[in-house]
Amino acid sequence: MSDPVDPNDVAPVAPIPSNARAKQLRACLLCSIIQSPVDFRKYGCPNCEEITQMKQSQDRVASCTTTHFDGVIALLEPETSWVARWQRTAKYVRGIYAVQVKGHVPEDVEQELLDRGIQYRRRDQTEMD
Ligand SMILES: [Zn+2]
Repeated sequence: MSDPVDPNDVAPVAPIPSNARAKQLRACLLCSIIQSPVDFRKYGCPNCEEITQMKQSQDRVASCTTTHFDGVIALLEPETSWVARWQRTAKYVRGIYAVQVKGHVPEDVEQELLDRGIQYRRRDQTEMD
């Protein structure tokens, strides 16, 4: 029960810090980047803070990120990676990303995306790609 990921399409995996799999880390529901909840609260999401507005907001961090994610990859070439493919308006920072994230962004975030002409795609397995 995992996303069909073309092996040729996955960026080379760099050494991943062992703590990247620690349970307390959270993945952004929008871009899948993995950070500690402290970083999300302190700095927001490096990719989609403009939309998710998690900075200084525990509630937003809780609703826009999740601990339910599978697979961890290092994204080294943001502009060509499959991770970035769904949303070409964004430039993704280099970092550690989840391959699969379970959950859905809040409705206001989805609406914000729609307003910007961006189609949100769920990253969990309940919808076929
Ligand atoms: Zn994000």
